[in-house]
Amino acid sequence: MPGSGRKWIDVPRAGARLALDFLLPMRCLSCDRRVGTEDGLCPVCWQKMQFIEKPWCYRLGIPFTYDVGEDAWSPRAIASPPVFDRLRSVAFYEGPARDLVLALKFSRRRELAGPMGRWMSRAGKEFLGEQSLILPVPLRWVRLLSRRFNQAADLAKVIAADCGGQYEPDLLRRRKRTRQQVGLSAKDRHRNVRSAFGIDKERESELQGRHVILIDDVMTTGSTVTACSKTVLAAGAASVNVITFAIADPSLRSADEAVKP
Ligand SMILES: [Zn+2]
Repeated sequence: MPGSGRKWIDVPRAGARLALDFLLPMRCLSCDRRVGTEDGLCPVCWQKMQFIEKPWCYRLGIPFTYDVGEDAWSPRAIASPPVFDRLRSVAFYEGPARDLVLALKFSRRRELAGPMGRWMSRAGKEFLGEQSLILPVPLRWVRLLSRRFNQAADLAKVIAADCGGQYEPDLLRRRKRTRQQVGLSAKDRHRNVRSAFGIDKERESELQGRHVILIDDVMTTGSTVTACSKTVLAAGAASVNVITFAIADPSLRSADEAVKP
């Protein structure tokens, strides 16, 4: 009986299985169908994911509808080049991708960092390597206490293990209290995160000449990853690239129309 929940009457016979189900709630996060893996989504929902694929803007990793060559920049990237080198994301923030992000963030389904991080490794493979210094975007400490873990750090750990890079969860830190970003205008978001990040003086040398990879679960306006990029570059990093699992900014849907003429 799909979708009818657990069958309590069969507990004695299926005791072991039921116990396992309590430990691993193996249901698809998007459609509630039972799944046999810890990947979070059933095969049908994985297929529904709107994966971001080439051809894309070299700088922002957002898709062109036509092939313009490997190194092409979108009008948006030309008009206002990002502080970081390149951004790569797995999917747009909708449907199953959104379900995965929210489940990792709020339901403490930490095992989802495995499959999500591996998809992020694929998205960033052109710049990931043993020389990479992999830094998660930090949570504000109050939120870190209340949620107990930083989902970006869990993702960064998986990505570092994949590419053999160095994982440093505490190098980049929050400096001051920032208000929740939700509900703020783009301008206020930028103001809100300005100088919100810092590197402890005694650890700045660890960034000298390094190739930094910033990791976050979702990019909304880009103000957070921009502020983090400025901070690590000012401390001496040689380059910064960014990988997020999802892009939530609707103006980044398409590289073709990112800037209106
Ligand atoms: Zn599903």
